[in-house]
Amino acid sequence: MTAVDAVVVGAGPNGLAAAVVLARAGLSVEVFERAETIGGGARTAEITLPGFRHDICSAVHPMGAASPFFRDFQLAQRIPFCTPEISYAHPLEGGLAGIAYHDIDRTVAGLGSDGRWWRSLFSPLAARIDAVTEFTGSTLLRVPRHPATALRFGLRALEVGTPAWSLRFRGDVARAMIAGVNAHSIGRMPSLAAAGVGLVLGAHAHARGWPIPVGGSQSIVDAMAEDIRQHGGKIHTGVDVDDLDALPSARAHLLDVTPRALVKLVGKRLPRGYRRAMERFRYGDAVAKVDFALSDPVPWANDEMRSAPTFHLGGTRAELAAAEAEVAAGRHAPSPYVLASQPTIVDPTRAPDGRHVLWAYAHVPAGSTVDPTEMVTRQVERFAPGFRDTILASHAVSAAQLAEYNPNYIGGDISAGAITLPQLIRRPVLSNDPWRTPAKGVYLCSSSTPPGTGVHGMVGLHAARSALRNTFGLGMPELGIE
Ligand SMILES: Cc1cc2nc3c(=O)[nH]c(=O)nc-3n(C[C@H](O)[C@H](O)[C@H](O)COP(=O)(O)OP(=O)(O)OC[C@H]3O[C@@H](n4cnc5c(N)ncnc54)[C@H](O)[C@@H]3O)c2cc1C
Repeated sequence: MTAVDAVVVGAGPNGLAAAVVLARAGLSVEVFERAETIGGGARTAEITLPGFRHDICSAVHPMGAASPFFRDFQLAQRIPFCTPEISYAHPLEGGLAGIAYHDIDRTVAGLGSDGRWWRSLFSPLAARIDAVTEFTGSTLLRVPRHPATALRFGLRALEVGTPAWSLRFRGDVARAMIAGVNAHSIGRMPSLAAAGVGLVLGAHAHARGWPIPVGGSQSIVDAMAEDIRQHGGKIHTGVDVDDLDALPSARAHLLDVTPRALVKLVGKRLPRGYRRAMERFRYGDAVAKVDFALSDPVPWANDEMRSAPTFHLGGTRAELAAAEAEVAAGRHAPSPYVLASQPTIVDPTRAPDGRHVLWAYAHVPAGSTVDPTEMVTRQVERFAPGFRDTILASHAVSAAQLAEYNPNYIGGDISAGAITLPQLIRRPVLSNDPWRTPAKGVYLCSSSTPPGTGVHGMVGLHAARSALRNTFGLGMPELGIE
């Protein structure tokens, strides 16, 4: 007789998604989270000045909008989202900028002779976004339900992920825009893994857009926590789990942790080969983050950019590739890739009247202890002269501090595992059910498993489905609003 049916360790979006599914299936569930608040990579808090609410980790949610888990959970009916007209913008020197509108026609119109190539790259994927999500939203070992879309996707990945990348584009703007979305993966470019990430994000930009939740990312996890409690689940915070035996006994343990932490928690119960695979799992390069409270919106040199909430900074494709190569070599790039978001452009609830917040992170080598404030400020100022004068306060976190904040971000790797082609296929092992471990009743439900990084809850869904099937002999419950 166990005290509860299932224990979940870690209240990140994936741990909570797993708990939602298990509680909805009628099981007794308890979640244990080491931090004092739930949310993992989806927390929002006042960390600069009173009234300025900052997303501590995730801010922009293209993956959330497309996620089958969140669609079944009816997230968009539970909390309001803003879907901006501009998904992302990419400034270049001289006031030039590439603007990826939600509307692909507007994007194409702004790209001159490269416009028609942009359309031919993204339009077939955006039009079949659910098939793209199905293909990329689970283990890549499964036979895709839409093989023609998978083939289209693969051919495009070969095109933008090899040294011939973006051969079809002639101008600097479209090339930089492609490199800007690819660089989300953190790592040398071009690469097939970066191309895969860029194609997914680029297709979402023109399909359901890049939405921003009103009030911040915290509202996403709060909606999940409410649902868990409504279905009898319990959530405990401030419990750093280093021994599963110290928790209530359970038939299933779902762990929102890295393979390294899995070995610490249940290493003795894992066969030697599996344990070695966990120990060999590689972690990637890192981010260092700065949040700004601003007196005014960022004064972008390019007027069109002033209505964009999300930006890729770092200049041309060549500059971005050079910056990513420096980081991969373990050095700080003199002009690093910076991802930035000014949610107050679409969601004024985040700051006092007329004021703004800016969320930004730079790519840095794993374990970096460098305060990123100056490197990020310089990169924004480069494309928005006068930005410094708008800063009221800022709060910075180095990569090393990010790793202390959340043990899943080893060395500051926000993906809980390097995004490389081998680790997209073997995440963390080559299996049709990589969420299930060889230890009886133990499942991994962190972004170290497919489909990897992002606030989409899909890892939690897959892990919970596996636990329902393998430990409890149950099928999937309904997830929608009752
Ligand atoms: C700076 C930053 C920016 C990001 N931006 C975006 C973005 O804009 N959009 C997007 O989609 N994604 C973004 N991400 C990625 C996204 O946040 C993660 O992919 C996502 O949160 C992963 O969810 P998870 O549940 O797997 O893990 P996490 O969110 O990392 O949650 C894991 C939880 O488990 C807890 N935990 C770990 N070990 C233990 C233990 N032993 N005992 C108890 N609790 C434990 C941790 O404290 C944490 O709360 C960003 C991440 C960061 C850090």
